Amino acid sequence: MATKRVLIVGAGFAGIAAARQLGRCKLAEVTVLDRRNHHVFQPLLYQVAMAGLDPSEIARPIRSMLHRYGNVRTLLGMATQVDTSRRVVSSEAGELPYDYLVMACGAHHSYFGNEQWEDFAPGLKNIPQATEIRRRVLRAFEMAERTPDKAEQEHYLNFVIVGGGPTGVELAGAIAEMARHTLRRDFRNINAADARVILVQGGERILEQFPDDLSSYGKRALEELGVEVRLGDHVTLIDEEGVRIGEQFLKAKTVIWAAGVQASPLGATLGTDTNRSGQVVVGPDLSIAGHSEVFVLGDQASAVGDDGKPLPGLAPVAMQQGKYVGKLIAKEIKADREPSSVGRAPFRYYDKGQMATIGRRRAVAQSGKIKLTGVVAWLAWLFIHILYL
Ligand SMILES: Cc1cc2nc3c(=O)[nH]c(=O)nc-3n(C[C@H](O)[C@H](O)[C@H](O)COP(=O)(O)OP(=O)(O)OC[C@H]3O[C@@H](n4cnc5c(N)ncnc54)[C@H](O)[C@@H]3O)c2cc1C
Repeated sequence: MATKRVLIVGAGFAGIAAARQLGRCKLAEVTVLDRRNHHVFQPLLYQVAMAGLDPSEIARPIRSMLHRYGNVRTLLGMATQVDTSRRVVSSEAGELPYDYLVMACGAHHSYFGNEQWEDFAPGLKNIPQATEIRRRVLRAFEMAERTPDKAEQEHYLNFVIVGGGPTGVELAGAIAEMARHTLRRDFRNINAADARVILVQGGERILEQFPDDLSSYGKRALEELGVEVRLGDHVTLIDEEGVRIGEQFLKAKTVIWAAGVQASPLGATLGTDTNRSGQVVVGPDLSIAGHSEVFVLGDQASAVGDDGKPLPGLAPVAMQQGKYVGKLIAKEIKADREPSSVGRAPFRYYDKGQMATIGRRRAVAQSGKIKLTGVVAWLAWLFIHILYL
């Protein structure tokens, strides 16, 4: 039986899951290409940003994650272009031909056409951004301590987080906890607990992907930590002095962006449909129209669930998709069949639930009809994340 070349671009949750599945199919010659040499466990990035974890604790070398699979090779390099007619991907590692292509390049932040804001309000998608946020937050306290000027102290001690999804909520809670607990006794000229943490959310509630009662709990829990939650407010300007929220300008040296996602630009080179966020529209088998040998997974894909709604940008979605596509390709290779969407069972997402932490001891969690809040939810969150670490 003939071997087939499978090229996986992106070693995030989806790419790694696909590679592990294909690692068991000796007829597949698998190449995993990533622009970085490490896989990042993004759900704990905020812990790196808040100095709770070291970068090395949430990053693992891709090479060592896959070394046990003799038919899988790992390459470092950025993919720049896909030519579906020649079945070749151009990359910093050269031209890479494929019989099957699995794209799983994830997403980055969208500043909704205001990319110039990024310098003043970094997002949190990778380790350099997490360490930059950590630097800015810790430096703000240091600079406030150094100045005798009360107005300047306030300027340094105002922290604004834009976006009330899980990342924004986790960051706001963690900065508030840091100010009121961790740093409480560390300064002489300032009271770290005077720091103002403001969470700005355009929608009418935070944690919009959770049921109403859990998002209300999340808001209350943040407020108890001293976070000011501003709902229905839009940021209209960010510069080095601060942020304009609606008509009001708020002076803040530290602004963090946790709103909006934009899929990897590589998807656009496939020449197929993409949605407003640049995600590639895929069919029920996660392949693109007209090319049943090309799959797009995870945050880079626009796929719908059984209920017809778009699947969320979550790690379990990416992992389950990676596993599904890996199995599907292995099955076709073993059967010596040409790639074809006809007869493929559709991808089905099994929703195990979602969770978000609020400060050190609280969280919200939902799995089917089960809803948890407070310490119990936080313990569930801790258990799941310790399993990974
Ligand atoms: C701060 C934060 C917190 C989160 N918290 C949670 C959570 O609590 N629970 C949850 O379920 N989900 C969470 N998520 C979402 C989850 O991490 C994503 O849904 C998941 O990472 C998507 O996996 P992926 O494989 O599609 O992409 P990613 O994991 O983003 O991986 C993409 C990979 O592609 C590589 N790549 C990108 N472009 C190229 C290119 N051109 N060439 C080569 N390689 C490329 C990247 O280096 C990366 O390794 C969080 C995300 C963030 C940012």
